[in-house]
Parts: sequence; C-alpha cells; structure tokens
Amino acid sequence: MNDRTVAIQATDLAKLFESADGRRVQAIDGLALSVREGELAVLLGPSGCGKSTLLQLVAGFERPSAGTIELWGQPVTEPGPDRGYIFQEFALFPWLTVLDNVAFGLRSAGRSKAEARRTAREQLTRVGLTEFAAAFPHTLSGGMKQRVAIARALAYEPRVLLMDEPFGALDAQTRRGLQRELVRVHAEDGTTVLFVTHSVDEALLLADTVHLMSARPGRIVRSVSIEQDRPRDEDAPWFRALRRELNTVIEREAGSLSP
Ligand code: ADP
Ligand code: MG
Repeated sequence: MNDRTVAIQATDLAKLFESADGRRVQAIDGLALSVREGELAVLLGPSGCGKSTLLQLVAGFERPSAGTIELWGQPVTEPGPDRGYIFQEFALFPWLTVLDNVAFGLRSAGRSKAEARRTAREQLTRVGLTEFAAAFPHTLSGGMKQRVAIARALAYEPRVLLMDEPFGALDAQTRRGLQRELVRVHAEDGTTVLFVTHSVDEALLLADTVHLMSARPGRIVRSVSIEQDRPRDEDAPWFRALRRELNTVIEREAGSLSP
C-alpha cells in the first residue's frame, strides 16, 4: 500500500442550509481536508461547528453548496457501500437479533443468507460478541450495541469508516474499551477512518492526524499529526503538552467569535 495515496479530499467546501422559513445557516465554509489511505483522521471541534455536516457530505447524504469532495479522486455524488457510517445513537433494528443486524446489509447487497451470517459471525467474534449473536438489541448495554454497530459497518468491508461521536453516549470505562477496540481493528484492516469527536483526549488517544475545526462556519484551522505508538498514555508529557496546545487554540477560536 502506498501510504501517500489520498483517500478523502475536500476542497473549498461549503454547505449552506436553507430552511423553508427562510432561515439560512452557513454550516461549513472554505473547508479543506486531506486524509491519506489507511489513516485514522479525527475531526475535533465544538458542538455546532459542522462536524456532522462534513461527515454527511463525505457519506453523500448531503450535497455541497460549493466546492468538492473526492474519494480516491472520484467526486462524491451519492451514498455507497464503500463508506460505512456509525452514528452516536445506537442505530440497530430492534426486531432483528444481533447476528441478523450485522448480516442485514450483506443480505441487501445480495449475499446468500448463509454467507451473510458467516461473515456476520466472524465480525461479531472480532468485537467479542460471539455469545450474543442470538440476543435482541434491547437486552444489550450501550457499549455492546455500539460494538454491534461497528461489526455491522465492518462486515461490508468499506474503504472508509465514518464515525460520528460514536462513543459519546457511553460511560468513561466502556468508551475506553471501545477506543482500544477501534485502534485494534484499524491496525488489522487498515481501513481509512474519519472520526468525529468534541473530546480533545479522545482525539489524542486515537488519531494519526487531528483536524481542529473552527466554530461555525466550520473549516479546518489546524492539523496535527501524531506519530506516537498506541495504546497511548494520557499522562505522558507529549500528551499533556498537545492537550494544552489544542485547548489554547480552541479557546482562541471561541474567543474570536465574541465582538
Ligand atoms: P456538529 O456536528 O459539529 O455539532 P452540525 O454539523 O450538526 O454540527 O451542525 C452545524 C450547523 O448546521 C448547526 O448550526 C446546525 O443547526 C445546522 N444544521 C445541521 N443540519 C441542518 C439541516 N439539515 N438543516 C438546517 N440546519 C442544519
Ligand atoms: Mg454532530
């Protein structure tokens, strides 16, 4: 794999939302982003700065008002199975078992039931949920539901995994477990990941590159690559120094909003 291959490229990207009552929100403006193939890129920014909007543009759920997004050089025009999407909410089908939740997309993509279930079982094993294959989602904890969502997204073997604050609703310990799991599957698969968070620590624990977004309208104000091995120690001097540095930039960005 050539690690210089660009997987995701956003150029002069803008998104203006216009509601029926004439309200206009410039969610993103003049945004540039470049993510290499196999990279775990983290978008870090305050609530409302346009992080989810950017992910939805990459996913093809929304269209840009201006500028372009390319995946491996091809403009994004619609959603596709090359992109897996994991939301903050636990978006599982309550009427399907864990196994069938994971197998669902594979069935829709035309795989036989037996093959879909075999792949689903493999993915469940990877996230430690083999024993829960026959369980229904309401019997699972939040952390387990999000593991199922990860298994489901990975089952398609997407080239890009888009994750929108996927661990935000979880308690600290569960969150830490899932962060480790993500780091592990990312190392195994080399999938390109675009991960959204508003937590500086989460960004520093996970990222190959942290892209700091400004307050709305969102654009990237700073990109920091982190070459430290994982798992990372939040008390290490480099970690504390970067945390302080990023917090300073975040405060300055917030301050620049005041008159
Ligand atoms: P974040 O994910 O960083 O919290 P969002 O991307 O969800 O931010 O939202 C950025 C801005 O765009 C917010 O002001 C939000 O209200 C607005 N917005 C997002 N989606 C829509 C939409 N479909 N219609 C109108 N405004 C929207
Ligand atoms: Mg959001």
